[in-house]
This record gives sequence, C-alpha cells and structure tokens, in this order.
Amino acid sequence: MTGEQIRSYLEFYRDLGFDSVYKRVPPSKRTELRITDAAPAAAPVSIARVAAPVTPAVGPVMPAVSLPGLAPENDTLGKIRRDLGDCRRCRLCEGRHTIVFGSGNERSPLVFVGEGPGADEDEQGLPFVGRAGQLLTQMIENTAKKEGIPILRSDVYICNVVKCRPPENRTPLPDEMEICGEFLFRQLMAIKPKAICALGATAMKALLNTKEGITRSRGKWHKWRDIPVMITYHPSYLLRQYNQQAKREAWEDLKTLLHFVYD
Ligand code: SF4
Repeated sequence: MTGEQIRSYLEFYRDLGFDSVYKRVPPSKRTELRITDAAPAAAPVSIARVAAPVTPAVGPVMPAVSLPGLAPENDTLGKIRRDLGDCRRCRLCEGRHTIVFGSGNERSPLVFVGEGPGADEDEQGLPFVGRAGQLLTQMIENTAKKEGIPILRSDVYICNVVKCRPPENRTPLPDEMEICGEFLFRQLMAIKPKAICALGATAMKALLNTKEGITRSRGKWHKWRDIPVMITYHPSYLLRQYNQQAKREAWEDLKTLLHFVYD
C-alpha cells in the first residue's frame, strides 16, 4: 500500500470520527497514534472492518497498529451523532430532509436495525414512525404483553443501516451501506446490547455480510462480533396483504428474541 493510500484511509476514518489508532499491546503499555499526524511516508497500515494487526514493511519504524473494532474508546451515542454532523459522506445526503440517527433507550439490551428512513421518517427525523413503524411498535408491544414481558417500544433502541432517505425509497447501494454502516457499528458498540434484531435483508447484509436469502436466515441466531443477532422480516414487507405466513413467522421470531433478552 502506498503512502497516498494510507493517507486517504486515515482521512476517511478521521472523517468518520476516529481520531486515534492503537497498538495491540497490553492496556498498561498502550501507545496512541494520532490520525492527524499520519504522514504519506508512514508505514503500511491495513484498515479492515475487524481490527487486524498491521506489519510495517518500509519507511520509518512504526509499531504494529490496529483499529479497536472501529469504535473509539468510551464512545457514546452523543459523540457519534456529533461526528456525523451535517453528513455529506455519501450521495444520499442530496435528497434528504433530515438525518435519522436513531431513537429509544440508549442503554437498551435490545437494538432493532432497519434499512433506512422513508418519507415519514425523513420528515420527522425519527426511525420507524410511518406505517411500517406503527406495525413494528404493535409487534414489539403486543408480543411483549402476550408473553408477560413488561416492555414498551420506548424501552428498546431503533436505528437504520443508512441515516438518510434513499431516493424513491430504493434499497441503499453497497457503498452507501459501507460508509454509513460505520456509524451503525459505532452505535452498536456504544450500546453493547444483549441482542440485535436485523429487520430485513439490508440490515442482515450490513451486519452479517452474507449472501443467504432472508427466508433461510430468519428465525435463527447469528452473530455480529460477539452479539447475538436475530434476523426477521422488515415490517414493510409484512404490510403486504399476501404475507400472512411471513407475519406469523415474524411474530415467532420476535417471541424468541424477547424471551432471550428479557427472561
Ligand atoms: S446516508 Fe449516512 S453516510 Fe450517507 S450522507 Fe447520510 S448520514 Fe452520511
């Protein structure tokens, strides 16, 4: 990797809000390298989704470094939102009205992840407030009530893979998911829930990087880093009348999820 490539990687992550990379050494001996100090002549640094050790090859001697799971230490939702700012990192900024960051209990043991904001969400700046959102609220609250689990929608945290509404509600493109997904990953790392529920294929792909179809993956436990992930259908898919079977399955998935988190 050239010095120029290293510089652009580091600038990309600095724009995402990361201002440091850390040596993979015992915490008592940790050394901090400031991203703002990165020079083009710096030794090769491999930046991957999952922290990976990096070996310098040429140039000035630098210690092996890795990104700490791509989440700055002591990260908070407030800091992530500030880092996001008036984000224009991908083309979805062009048609949006509002950035829809997420809402709910910031210490929730359960986080729901959807695809992206629709028209109502874009208007109000809140996730899942349109018809699909109302269905999600009913699903959470009715299932919880029926199963004797005392929670409301406000007790969980809800966000999306992309924070800006895609034009015509199209599916987010891979580069949009990748760029905005880094903020989603930081949100998840900051909350550290007991479980995540991926709503629909886009959330599933963003978290699990799988090509498997949702009908095969739903209702089973998967993992994002060390956190269990339940996959189920997106509520907007369930709103289609002919999806009665899918509705039944989604309710079953939710039941399994709520018992796992709250029992
Ligand atoms: S979708 Fe995400 S990365 Fe793209 S402009 Fe909006 S907030 Fe930024």
